[in-house]
Amino acid sequence: MPIATVNPATGETERTFAPLDTEDVEVCLARAAVTFQHHRTTSFADRAALLRRAADLLDEDTDAVARTMTTEMGKPLAAARAEAGKCAKTMRWYADHAEELLADEYPDDEDVRDSGAAKVFVRYRPVGVVLAVMPWNFPLWQVVRFAAPALMAGNVGLLKHASNVPQTALYLADLFRRAGFDEGCFQTLLIGSGAVEDVLRDPRVAAATLTGSEGAGRAVASVAGDEIKKTVLELGGSDPFVVMPSADVDAAARTAVTARVQNAGQSCIAAKRFIVHTDVHDAFLDRFTAGMRELTVGDPLAEGTDVGPLSSAQGRADLEELVEDAVRRGAVTHCGGQRPKGLDQRMSEGYFYEPTVLSGITPDMRIHREETFGPVATVYRVADLDEAVSVANDTSFGLSSNAWTDDPAEQERFVRDLQAGGVFFNGMTASHPAFPFGGVRRSGYGRELAGHGIKEFCNATTVWFG
Ligand code: NDP
Repeated sequence: MPIATVNPATGETERTFAPLDTEDVEVCLARAAVTFQHHRTTSFADRAALLRRAADLLDEDTDAVARTMTTEMGKPLAAARAEAGKCAKTMRWYADHAEELLADEYPDDEDVRDSGAAKVFVRYRPVGVVLAVMPWNFPLWQVVRFAAPALMAGNVGLLKHASNVPQTALYLADLFRRAGFDEGCFQTLLIGSGAVEDVLRDPRVAAATLTGSEGAGRAVASVAGDEIKKTVLELGGSDPFVVMPSADVDAAARTAVTARVQNAGQSCIAAKRFIVHTDVHDAFLDRFTAGMRELTVGDPLAEGTDVGPLSSAQGRADLEELVEDAVRRGAVTHCGGQRPKGLDQRMSEGYFYEPTVLSGITPDMRIHREETFGPVATVYRVADLDEAVSVANDTSFGLSSNAWTDDPAEQERFVRDLQAGGVFFNGMTASHPAFPFGGVRRSGYGRELAGHGIKEFCNATTVWFG
């Protein structure tokens, strides 16, 4: 894949970049290793001041960086601005909380005596240079949710961003440098995926985090495993959105639309499978379909656009294949199912796809098992709570889940039985810096955000005094 900005609304290549060669990468690795030896000795207060400065700069840059993101991967401008705002908020959250999250921990006196020690504590020390392999779908957020805790913990980062968002990738390195971090604290490596293995095997790299597809996760985790290096993986999802009879069906249908089409459906935590109790199935399906039909698809730079293009021609082709396979095997299309007609001539080569609702899904359809990374929803009818839980878990993924019910016994059952890293009631999944984020099963392992995230790349060191 060339490293280039290809505007997905027009299909035009706007800028291309030469990848770094081996010598360039060596300079970055050496700089990262040297910088770590200094950065790890700095105080939380110093790191926090730099991170707050980065947040302020990001706020100032919001409009410009939002346009860059929209041009590179097609999200509507308002969503891009909101993403920048969330990144600044998360930087400030870690600036405020990292010291407390990583404070020394003192075990119970009884356990200390039992060990024969006079004193014991646990110190969270940074692990070193962490390689971050990141995707294009939230090109700022995916990176910042790694970088903010990593830098506060005393680690340094090397970013291998997706090849279609090079300008956002370069912006990030520049942002941290302008904020006052040493150049080696956070560097962007413009390299293709084929160059990742050598970087990861380099002894100066301690660990890796990857957000992306199962294939990319497997490739990076295999190499890291071979090198005995820690990884955190945040992979795909096919999150269930269950609606039970006690729910407010109008509210559920409205939220379902947003949950499915945010970021043109290209979100790992988007609700993708809508599992509806038979008593409210028809009412939900009608309202949900009406909401999906009303969305404005078009120019992501125009105010009022709800759904922009998919990020790449390949992404749209993958989605079309899933829909065609489902329809061929008997799925019913309630809306969409094709490329939109009547778009402005400038965007005739863009990668747009209509918001789509399908029902009549059967296990032999690929769409039943695979992630739909675009604005396509599948709706299932279920007879009762048992079937709802069973269909919700009938996936190899386990990122998050949504359930709409006011019944406390049903809520308890979902918390007990939904196999996912999150269970969100009467709302849609969203990440927040204070709550852990991540999945189980083929959605990956490890957690980002909150105290869980910052500790993933720390060496929990037992300090024992006789
Ligand atoms: P990828 O997983 O291919 O890309 C994510 C990142 O991993 C990019 O930086 C990519 O680099 C890199 N990468 C890819 N393959 C390797 C490899 N073998 N070794 C090292 N790094 C690698 O995502 P795609 O853009 O191809 O999207 C495909 C599917 O992945 C989507 O349809 C969706 O299902 C899922 N996905 C999930 C995301 C999530 O948020 N969990 C985000 C993006 C995609 P490069 O760009 O240079 O190839």
